[in-house]
Amino acid sequence: MMDTTSTLQQDTADVAQAWPRNRDGDLLIGGMPLSQAVSRVGGTPCYLYDRAAIEARVAQLRSLLSDRIELHYAVKANPMPALVCHLARLVDGFDVASAIELGVALDAGMSPKQISFAGPGKKEAELMQGLASGVLFNVESARELRALASMSEATGHPARVALRVNLPFEAKSSSMKMSGGPRQFGIDSELIPAMLSEIKSSHLQFEGFHLFAGSQNLRAQTLVDAQSRSYELVMSWLDQMPQAPRILNLGGGFGIPYAPGDKVLDLASVTDHLNALSERLERDIPGARIAIELGRFIVGEAGLYVSSVIERKLSRGHTFLIVDGGMHQHLAASGNFGQCIRKNYPVAMGHRGREKEMASVVGPLCTPLDLLADRVEMDRAEEGDLFVVFQSGAYGRSASPRDFLSHPDVREALI
Ligand SMILES: *Cc1c(COP(=O)(O)O)cnc(C)c1O
Repeated sequence: MMDTTSTLQQDTADVAQAWPRNRDGDLLIGGMPLSQAVSRVGGTPCYLYDRAAIEARVAQLRSLLSDRIELHYAVKANPMPALVCHLARLVDGFDVASAIELGVALDAGMSPKQISFAGPGKKEAELMQGLASGVLFNVESARELRALASMSEATGHPARVALRVNLPFEAKSSSMKMSGGPRQFGIDSELIPAMLSEIKSSHLQFEGFHLFAGSQNLRAQTLVDAQSRSYELVMSWLDQMPQAPRILNLGGGFGIPYAPGDKVLDLASVTDHLNALSERLERDIPGARIAIELGRFIVGEAGLYVSSVIERKLSRGHTFLIVDGGMHQHLAASGNFGQCIRKNYPVAMGHRGREKEMASVVGPLCTPLDLLADRVEMDRAEEGDLFVVFQSGAYGRSASPRDFLSHPDVREALI
């Protein structure tokens, strides 16, 4: 009989097991023992991001993607300025979703030509800021398009626009759907021809489309299907465009494994398909390029969230490790960031112990939601030991309610 457990092992990730440790069994980050990195930032709780791991991930994507495909970073995944600066030298562009993210992207030295500005409900002042910066707007509604058209006329500077499309289908296995059915994002696909004709009679500079089905997808086939259908949709509007589009932004959504059973995304299947689409695009619309904008996939696996055990507490036979970090700094790891079913993130103690134990790891907040790990088997922890949550480089600090219960803010460093 086939050994199904071993085949499963090959394509599911044992993230905690795979992370490098030194001979003493201490976790390493950027080649440095974790305890040293923690001392360097002044203690716990902290987020530590591994520079080299981010570089390696971008290099892997580059090695698989055709040179004609632009690789963009979605700043909302992790807007830490130093990290954004680091990525400015590695990727072709940034996608921002607020005026403050726009400032971070510009400060990092990314050319405004290569910055796109997405997000529903952009205010007049934000549109003005984007126009003055010279970035590309991913226009999310008829209101935004008209506001930009009048600003362009008033200032004599044509706004650069791409239409963000609310696709007529959903990406089934995405954990956060961004398209299909009624949505606050993008312009319903059936209204796109009318928007194209508005652009034609305006002072706007039309540059292309933004089509993004959903986030955190681990199934290559779903991504491939969504990209194919998005491509066909754009081709169906070809006759109605004011001019040939320069860019087809197919969004992000490449997932990373979190739970023990999660299969690693078959990246090569997705990039092979993108490369084929890119060749087709060169024939269909010479000079136009495909862009992808990835957030989680670029930075998610490069980050650790580190806290210290304050107290070992036994309650009716169950061990609780109470740590100095929690849901207020890492909402996603507590299972409260859009997850339907709570699953533990991969976790481990910072160093190897002599024995294992089963414990739950909780934060200091006065709510049962403040749970970082539910009944996990780990090396036995003592008070003062470091506890690590892996896969914490994306949607961590900035996606957490840091004021809830009024504890101090979390430190961050790029190591
Ligand atoms: C959030 C977002 C992304 C990034 O999604 P990931 O799942 O982190 O890759 C890309 N584009 C837009 C418009 C987004 O809102």
